[in-house]
Amino acid sequence: MSVNQQAHTGPPYGQPQPGYQGYQQPAYGGQPLPGVPQSQYGAYNGPMPGYQQPVPPQGSLRAPPTSGAPPPASGASLPSGHLAYSQYGHGDVQNGIPASAAPMQRPPASQPFLPGSAPTPVSQTSTFQQYGPPPASVQQLSNHMAGMTIGSTTASAPPPAGLGYGPPTSVPPVSGSFSATGSGLYTPYTASQGPPPTSVSQGLPLAQPPFPGQPISTQRLPTQVSGFAPPPSSTGIGPSSYPPTTGAPRPPTMPGPPLPGQTVAGPPTSQPNHVSSPPPPSAMSGPHPGPPMSGLHGPPPPTHPPQPGYQMQQNGSFGQVRGPQPNYGGAYPGTPNYGTQPGAPPPPKRLDPDSIPSPQLNELPPQQKPRHRIDPDAIPSPIQVIEDDRSNRGSEPFVTGVRGQVPPLVTTNFLVKDQGNASPRYIRCTSYNIPCTSDMAKQSQVPLAAVIKPLATLPPEETLPYLVDHGESGPVRCNRCKAYMCPFMQFIEGGRRFQCCFCSCVTEVPPHYFQHLDHTGKRVDFYDRPELSLGSYEFLATVDYCKNNKFPSPPAFIFMIDVSYNAVKSGLVRLICEELKSLLDYLPREGNMEESAIRVGFVTYNKVLHFYNVKSSLAQPQMMVVSDVADMFVPLLDGFLVNMNESRTVIASLLDQIPEMFADTRETETVFAPVIQAGLEALKAAECAGKLFIFHTSLPIAEAPGKLKNRDDKKLINTDKEKTLFQPQTSFYNNLAKDCVAQGCCVDLFLFPNQYLDVATLGVVTYQTGGSIYKYAYFQLETDQDRFLNDLRRDVQKEVGFDAVMRVRTSTGIRATDFFGAFYMSNTTDVEMAGLDCDKTITVEFKHDDKLSEDSGALLQCALLYTSCAGQRRLRIHNLSLNCCTQLADLYRNCETDTLINYLAKYAYRGVLGSPVKTVRDALINQCAQILACYRKNCASPSSAGQLILPECMKLLPVYLNCVLKSDVLQPGPEVTTDDRAYIRQLVTSMDVAETNVFFYPRLLPLTKADVDSDSLPAAIRNSEERLSKGDIYLLENGLNIFVWVGVNVQQGLIQNLFGVSSFSQISNTLSTLPVLENPFSKKVRSIVDMLQVQRSRYMKLIIVKQEDKLEMLFKHFLVEDKSLSGGASYVDFLCHMHKEIRQLLS
Ligand SMILES: [Zn+2]
Repeated sequence: MSVNQQAHTGPPYGQPQPGYQGYQQPAYGGQPLPGVPQSQYGAYNGPMPGYQQPVPPQGSLRAPPTSGAPPPASGASLPSGHLAYSQYGHGDVQNGIPASAAPMQRPPASQPFLPGSAPTPVSQTSTFQQYGPPPASVQQLSNHMAGMTIGSTTASAPPPAGLGYGPPTSVPPVSGSFSATGSGLYTPYTASQGPPPTSVSQGLPLAQPPFPGQPISTQRLPTQVSGFAPPPSSTGIGPSSYPPTTGAPRPPTMPGPPLPGQTVAGPPTSQPNHVSSPPPPSAMSGPHPGPPMSGLHGPPPPTHPPQPGYQMQQNGSFGQVRGPQPNYGGAYPGTPNYGTQPGAPPPPKRLDPDSIPSPQLNELPPQQKPRHRIDPDAIPSPIQVIEDDRSNRGSEPFVTGVRGQVPPLVTTNFLVKDQGNASPRYIRCTSYNIPCTSDMAKQSQVPLAAVIKPLATLPPEETLPYLVDHGESGPVRCNRCKAYMCPFMQFIEGGRRFQCCFCSCVTEVPPHYFQHLDHTGKRVDFYDRPELSLGSYEFLATVDYCKNNKFPSPPAFIFMIDVSYNAVKSGLVRLICEELKSLLDYLPREGNMEESAIRVGFVTYNKVLHFYNVKSSLAQPQMMVVSDVADMFVPLLDGFLVNMNESRTVIASLLDQIPEMFADTRETETVFAPVIQAGLEALKAAECAGKLFIFHTSLPIAEAPGKLKNRDDKKLINTDKEKTLFQPQTSFYNNLAKDCVAQGCCVDLFLFPNQYLDVATLGVVTYQTGGSIYKYAYFQLETDQDRFLNDLRRDVQKEVGFDAVMRVRTSTGIRATDFFGAFYMSNTTDVEMAGLDCDKTITVEFKHDDKLSEDSGALLQCALLYTSCAGQRRLRIHNLSLNCCTQLADLYRNCETDTLINYLAKYAYRGVLGSPVKTVRDALINQCAQILACYRKNCASPSSAGQLILPECMKLLPVYLNCVLKSDVLQPGPEVTTDDRAYIRQLVTSMDVAETNVFFYPRLLPLTKADVDSDSLPAAIRNSEERLSKGDIYLLENGLNIFVWVGVNVQQGLIQNLFGVSSFSQISNTLSTLPVLENPFSKKVRSIVDMLQVQRSRYMKLIIVKQEDKLEMLFKHFLVEDKSLSGGASYVDFLCHMHKEIRQLLS
């Protein structure tokens, strides 16, 4: 193997990798770096000489010359799939495989993996034999490559007699944290089905010519096996995930400014009833419908003060002196209008630590649990805060025209109206009023960070970003810092120049972009141009923004299926193949395109790789085996990546045959890195970006590059070596990830482990390429197939940008210093992602490098350059303006605790890669204590030191922080596996604020309190066992799991209605879905479950928990206000502990 094995010394995740030169873009935003190689993207960063030209005479200015001009490159010049292949010639590898084909197969592009052109011949033809006696059509390509036509495989595999191994132990452990399913209701899938009749595949090409648009028989195939058909529409999940997702209209294209008088405004902003689906939780019907917002157009001048309505997040005076009551008696929940009336001081929050137990008591066994003298109702309640925000802010749109506005909480349903700042769906900040000086920021210890989700999905009521096309000249940018035209740029000198809002540099307005100013200094085309009036928009990129100055080809999807023993025996291979037959009709496409531009390819593998030629002209697919995995290459070019419609019958035939071909496999070992390398080489050869969907079952122990050993060792927990459990065991995958990013090869990984498979290592490439990991431990068809298929469907169909680079620019005074998320960085500023989908977030931290001013505030501009699913190169721009303050109280009044927790969790989860977990935990506690102590010292009214005073906007910081500290990554319970921890660590790092919120503080709903006649959810309750009643049924969800907890005293009638059995003891805890019963309660509960499932980016696993049953321990792990089995403190205890820390800092 010739991959560069140089030691990879940097931290694996998200850190600059100085050695990597492949993607350097010195001036993509800041100053050109001396000594850095020239960018591949030419003018993406470089100067734009055309903009220096003098302004034309005034007469010609009314209509910009580019107005209405057709996009220069949007369709006609994009090469078709066929064109992309033409350079490799046709015919050489089509039907017959020439005996000496190997050298020809090498793509002409340079391949760092393959410096030696002649692979060492290795006699490995015996591996071929396991697929059965080769039919007559097989031809050996070379000693290390074999090909066969797989049209007639009825007599393929050898009989599996006398196998030396038994079936894998597939019964899951009782207490697996994320995998417990109870014991085996496993039903062998299709064990009774015989091989497909050969006549089917032979007849297909004649009966079904692969014309696009013609109804194809494959769509009927799934109906023969009900489990594989799209779920019935009554579930509300399956079918809706098909056409609506793919057919989602693209944003309206705006080739130039709209017609005069036409505005780019979205829907009317005054509609109060903006949330129809999903229905808002109960508190939605606030009695205060918002006033019409029609008067607000465009962003106000930067000095505009915050709107009054927003100041209900008032003065943070969480603790007026209120007398020395030791227990802070119950005024908190009972106080009406808490937080609802602007100007009304909140009730005091104070605790006397001298009267409450110390956190050390937390170590006592349960029976010695002291009676808390603190009423849990008296400490800040997440439920109350969430409900208050819903009723205060959920009834009117959030209009982004005002600088520094704190948006409603992520748990509130609200409509966003873009009037010059990016929607909080794209960017959320830890604070919307940031300190003017570095000293102030350090004093407060409040991290300044933004959680950015550049391709976030918007609700249907909101307008997608407009696509702006400036023609061949491309977007208008600042000459110095290269910031893109945005609402905060200041036009001067009658509109002939503009001053940059980020670096103050003055730039000439290019002639085609000139426009007159009105009497207020605003361009008269202000409302006609998204980039002047909106916070978020897109530019069509010119060829200068493309790699190697060449417009990209449409991306490709490659499906790579593990066909080793476990994968086959569990029914997984058959399931995947059946699903792909219908799913491939729903590949992402641009809104105006009839079919997807994405090409598809197929690989199966165990210890060797099998490539498939599915060229449309073939009567049958052809298989080519590559057994020399040490030097991976792609044995065919023409016919590997194909258009789905053109090759429909060949693909259907292939997907029918794969499960049969490997039905009797005895191979248990797998390779992994060569699989990724194969996908990467295929994309390189096709000169396109793309995504690999890898379905993998086991630790790759077969002899190959990237081979791993089992190094799991739970004894390392709580030692200095614990961090090694989160680190990859070899740097091989880091280097592979680097190559993948350079090619735009994103890797999505679906894992089906029955034992440790080292997620920390296997996930490296996925993580650094911006891909997604899914894990289905102890996969069983019956219980897990719905979840897996829903995840797969969503993953294949969701919006994704390829070959993406993101840069965040800031106004003078602060700059982005740190980045968290699934990406790769080759320098300190550019976040590179082979793929970036609509669910991924990047958290960016900012630090001061100069003073800020209250007048000008602070600005962020996030620019994402990416290739769309149709191969169009685009820039998506998000702008956000923040206030700046000289008083700490203003900072604390404008914080967003949910976003703060998102940042802190990601910071801590990265910290465990390099530090002992205890060090990370202590640092978290210390930072939060400092944040709260600074508030107490500088912002709160004087009071006794025995009182805990929390800022209004941060009163949930202790409870949420405790949840992070108790999470499986930072404090694992005995049942949590090393792979679970690595998996969770990776998931959280890409989560948005809504996801971290519910992940760390799950939503707990009393189902028996649900109103069966209403669409609303029952009011959530706090996550504590003492809130549960034995006579009720509850639902708990955290974004990954849904638990349905049934109390021992639940009425028999309810049990009958929900589970269809007559008593508590008859409820099966191995159910993975609720039975479909025709009664109002069953319908209501199932509709709640469905509603929650569509809200989340992953399909949640449903687990039934009976009170006092063994699974209840797992459930209690999520009652996060209670003390945890792994030693995590209860909320009350932790609050007391924080109070002590704060007092120590203050004394
Ligand atoms: Zn600038």
